[in-house]
This record gives sequence, C-alpha cells and structure tokens, in this order.
Amino acid sequence: MGDSLLTSLNDLPIRDDLRGREPYGAPQLDVPYALNTNENPYPPSAALVNAIGEAVKGVAGSLNRYPDRDAVKLREDLAAFLNRDTPGAGLTGRDVWAANGSNEIIQQILQAFGGFGRTALGFEPSYSMHPIITSVSGTAWINAHRDADFGLDPERAIKAVEEHRPDVVFLTSPNNPTGTALPLEAIEAVLKVAPGMVVVDEAYAEFRRAGTPSALTLLPGNPRLIVTRTMSKAFAMAGTRLGYLAADPAVIDALLLVRLPYHLSAVTQAVARTAITFGDELLDSVNALRRERDDVVAWLRAEGLEVAESDANFVLFGRFADRRGVWERMLDRGVLIREVGPPEWLRVSVGTPEEMAAFRTALKEASKEVG
Ligand code: PMP
Repeated sequence: MGDSLLTSLNDLPIRDDLRGREPYGAPQLDVPYALNTNENPYPPSAALVNAIGEAVKGVAGSLNRYPDRDAVKLREDLAAFLNRDTPGAGLTGRDVWAANGSNEIIQQILQAFGGFGRTALGFEPSYSMHPIITSVSGTAWINAHRDADFGLDPERAIKAVEEHRPDVVFLTSPNNPTGTALPLEAIEAVLKVAPGMVVVDEAYAEFRRAGTPSALTLLPGNPRLIVTRTMSKAFAMAGTRLGYLAADPAVIDALLLVRLPYHLSAVTQAVARTAITFGDELLDSVNALRRERDDVVAWLRAEGLEVAESDANFVLFGRFADRRGVWERMLDRGVLIREVGPPEWLRVSVGTPEEMAAFRTALKEASKEVG
C-alpha cells in the first residue's frame, strides 16, 4: 500500500479519551548495560533452566486442554512463599490471586472496584502505570502528592483521602521511582479513612531493608486492603509475567467476576511454580543486590549527589540541570538508565558489580561533559 493509503489511528473510531495518547514503555534498546527497568540482572541458574525445561515438558503433552482456571496449586505455593517472607502472615491459597504480571492484577482491581463515575487516588511521584491503567479502565485519576523527601505524612494522607473520597487508593511501598518505603502508620492511617479499597503495591518488597515491614501484616481485619507483589523483580522472572496479590478471599471473589477465563497459561503456571521451588537460590541474589544498592547509594553521596533512601533494587539520584544531557551521554557509553520521576533526577536499576562499575565510570564522564 502506498503511504497516502495508510490508515492512521485517528481515522479509527477509537475512544475519545484514548486519542493523542502514546503507548507506555521504557525504551527496549540493545545496549551492554541495561539498567532502566528494575529487572534482576542475574539470569536463572543452569539448574533452574533445566527444571523449567522439565516443567514445561510436563505440561506440553496436555496443552490441548485449558489450564487450571483458578491456578489453585500456584496460589498455594505463592501463599507459602509469602508466609516465609512475612512470618505470621498466615496466608492460604484462598487469600492469594495471580495474573500475568502485577500490571494485570492492578487492571483487574480497577475493573472490579473502579470504572466510569469512580475515582482512584495515588501519591506522586509514583509508578506511572497506576494512573494509566486507572484511566484506561474508565476510572478518573486523582493525583495527590508525596512529601519533599518522597515519604508520606499520615496526616496529609488522611486529608487527601477525606477530601476526595476515592474508590481506590494506591500506596506504593517501596515506591517506584523513589525507592521510599512507607511506615505501617501511614498505611494504617489511610486504611482508617478510605471509603474504598486500599492497594499497597509491593513490587519491590523483597529488597526492603531489615526492619522495614510489609503491609501483609495488616491484612487480618482489613478486608479492603490488597497487597500486590510480582515475580518480575526479586524472583528474576520478568519474562514469565507473573504477578499476585494477597487479600481477603471476598476480594478474590470480586476479581473472579472480571478476570478472563484461563488467563494464566499452563506454561506460565508451571514455570512460576518451578521458580518458587528455587526461592532460596533466587533470594540469594536479592541479598547481593541489596548490598550493591547500599554501595551505590554511598558512592553517589560521596560524589556530592542527592540520593533518595532506597528499599528497592534501584536508586533515584540528582540533581542535574540537564538530566536529558546526562542520560544521553551515558547511553553513548552503553549505559541505559531511566529518565523518570521529578525533573532533575535520574533512576538507575541495581545491576551486577561489573554493571555498576560501568555505571559509575559513565556517570562521572557524562557529568563532566554536561557540566
Ligand atoms: N508495580 C510497580 C511499582 C512496578 O514498578 C512495576 C514494574 N515496573 C509493576 C508494578 C509491574 O510489574 P509486573 O507487571 O512485571 O509484575
């Protein structure tokens, strides 16, 4: 077809509120050092690769059949993992739900508890998919703000929730892109006044520092609390697409109304269950990444930069009058970081020691060039 015959998006009867939007996504560039999407840099071990191969073989012979629609065994395994992560959580498979990445979990939550005429509120800067999934679901987004140090003062949080009375509140802890973990008091304060559901997005929880609690401890007696997790980060399984949540079983009954039947493929379920059996090995890399994170925070501070406290596997640092310039010059050196968050700040995902050495060198050179 000639160019003149090409149909553009605007020629289609697309929803008015989607016109002019750009698809979300960080650049997927082929670079030596990809430190921009908070992945775990350690690939699965040979033993895990082997076990995944066997597990996929195990289900391959019955791929003519639909998978377990309720992913019962996977949910039991995830509950057992959470009980180890947060002793005393006391979760069973009935308290856990799974989907294709925590993004799909969030989408299902908004389909069930948001929708046209309803609102969701978040405290920004935070994960930019929250407002996007919210508005695509027809829910109106309300942007409240974090404090200057990226924390959340309970009194201010209460005021925002009382003023807007949102149907859904998002609290991200540790927060992306700042790395900030919330104290339980801030979450409890919101739970006390929120008229609707409170979602604590804990995508990075396994990286939290000693003494930082998980919101899982607040689940008993709080049927409007949802804690979301993912296997994309600590579990080093971003390619598997497996996110999950813990909540009161009644919440899961609500999500069953909106989930597509057989949304989790048999292959996904088998791979995820196998990865969970390698939990100890995978979580070893989490400890290494935590140490590497603390080292890079100390190094950035020694370089005279401002650095946000991080309980995650990434670090937000600044400030740069020309952050785009620094980002571009680092990319010239094969180091891809993320231009995200408040102006003048940049985010780096924590990689291997070798990757972080490349990051340090590139940042020094890029800062010198940009001035
Ligand atoms: N929540 C937060 C805070 C995130 O940063 C991300 C990924 N960047 C997600 C959820 C989604 O992760 P996934 O869909 O891979 O589980």
